[in-house]
Amino acid sequence: MAKFIQFIKAWLVYAANYKRPETFASKRVVTVPTITRTLTDDEMKKVFGDFNEYLNIDGNINATWERKILTYIPLPKSLPLAWNKSVRVHRISCHFLIADFLQKALEEISKHQSVWDTINDYGGVYSFRMQRESGSVSRHSWATAIDLDVGDNPFKAIPNVHPRIVEIFLKNGFLWGGSDIFPEGRKDGMHFEFADLSKIGDTNGGHKRK
Ligand SMILES: [Zn+2]
Repeated sequence: MAKFIQFIKAWLVYAANYKRPETFASKRVVTVPTITRTLTDDEMKKVFGDFNEYLNIDGNINATWERKILTYIPLPKSLPLAWNKSVRVHRISCHFLIADFLQKALEEISKHQSVWDTINDYGGVYSFRMQRESGSVSRHSWATAIDLDVGDNPFKAIPNVHPRIVEIFLKNGFLWGGSDIFPEGRKDGMHFEFADLSKIGDTNGGHKRK
C-alpha cells in the first residue's frame, strides 16, 4: 500500500511539472482573427457604457447618452442613405471606442473600388432600439454596429455581401451578421458589429474622457 501511495505521489509531481512539447502548431503565427462569438449585454455595458442610467421614464433614451458615447468619422466615399436615396452621407457617428476600427475598415474597403461599389447604401450606426424578435438590446444602441447595403440584404434574406468586405471587417474586430455565428432566422447580411474586446484598452466605462 505504501508503495502504491508513493507511486501516486510521484505521478502527481510528474503530472504537475509536465510540459507539453512545443509543436509546430504552437509556433505558427496566427493571422486569422479569432473572434468566435458575439459579446454579452453585460460585456457591452461594462465596456461601452450602461444606458440604464440615461433611460427616461417613458422608456426613451436621454440625449446625454448620445453625447457620452458618440463621435464622428468621415466616410471615405459618400453613400446614399438607405431610407432616402436622395441624401448622400459623408460622415457618420459611432461609439468613440470603435471609431478607429470602423474608419480603418471602411477606408480599406474603399481602396478596392469594385468592392466598394457593391455597397449601394448606408443604413446607419446609432439607433437606440431593442433587437427585432430576440428582445435583447441591439448593438446599434451602443453605436458599435453598422448596417451597409441594406437594399441588397433585407432582414431574413440570404446575406449578399462581397466576401472581401466581410474579411476586412473581421480583421478590424467586427463580426458579420450573415456569418454562422448568428443562428438561422437571425442572420442579418447588412449588419456588422464590433466584438473584439482585445482591441480595446482601458475604457472608462464607455464614457468619453473630458
Ligand atoms: Zn444592424
